[in-house]
Parts: sequence; C-alpha cells; structure tokens
Amino acid sequence: MHDRDPGGEGATTTTTATADGIIDTSDGVLPAGVSVRDDSYPGVARLAPDLLEALRLAAADAGADGVAVHVTSGWRSAEYQDQLLREAIVEHGSAAEAARWVATAETSAHVSGDAVDIGPYDAISWMQQHGEGYGLCQIYGNEAWHYELVPEAVDEGCPPPYTDPTQDPRLHG
Ligand SMILES: [Zn+2]
Repeated sequence: MHDRDPGGEGATTTTTATADGIIDTSDGVLPAGVSVRDDSYPGVARLAPDLLEALRLAAADAGADGVAVHVTSGWRSAEYQDQLLREAIVEHGSAAEAARWVATAETSAHVSGDAVDIGPYDAISWMQQHGEGYGLCQIYGNEAWHYELVPEAVDEGCPPPYTDPTQDPRLHG
C-alpha cells in the first residue's frame, strides 16, 4: 500500500508511529477544517470521484446558505483503518462493541473511498435536510456525520438508515 503513496513528503501534520509504520496525511489523516475542495490531502483527493463531485456540489450550495462543509475523515489507508479499529476496541472494551462504530479495513467504505465523514454540526444538519437531493445519504442511525453516495436517492429519497454498522449486510459479506 505504501508504495502507492504520493511521495510521502506531505508529512506536515503530527505523525503517529505504529508497529507497522507511520500513519499520517498520506494514509488519509486530516487536520481540522479541511474543505471538500482541498485536493492536497489524499483523504479528500482519493475519495471516489462520483462521491466527491456530489459532495462538492452540495457543499457549494451549503456555502450559499452560509454553511461550511468540512471533511473530518474521507479516504483511509488500510493501515489507518486498522489503527482506528484497534483504538475503538480499547475505547469500547471489546471487538463486538467496537464493530458498532468502526469497520475492518476489508469492509470499510472509507478504505474504498466510498464514504465521507463531515462536520461541523451545522454542516451535518444541512446535509440531513438537503443531502438526498445530491444522492448523499446517512447510512447509519448512530453516525449522523457519515455519508455515502446513493445515486437513486436523488429521485427516490434515501433508504432508511441501518441502526448501526453491525446491521449493514455489506459488512458481513
Ligand atoms: Zn464514516
């Protein structure tokens, strides 16, 4: 995975040493307040193109409403996702409880570039009201900030969210 990193020279943020390497912006780590238009971060630039296009359209309209949409987490390397899962197991006390919040690297829509977490609160609120017009849907009831592209939602509306990721059949394939 690391041989596909774009040079590895963008280490402008705090890095965290782990057993299997350095997790930094080249793995999708983002500082606070990153714009949806900021291609300088792999966490934004490596989102799926159709998701990124929908997100940027929505963010432009949100901006016209005075709401700034930031990417709090987008594309993640498998190493980064693994680290988040390990941290969640510590935080939540068991792998089963952590699974309600963090997917594995094999199943995470963040690792494939098909999911984006947004913020701050007013951006989440705006997206809850307007996202489906762009095909942007909340997928999990317990993750108001996590959006994925559901193209049919533009015409049909978003499907009802799963209670949490353990209810998502895609994560049990
Ligand atoms: Zn997410």
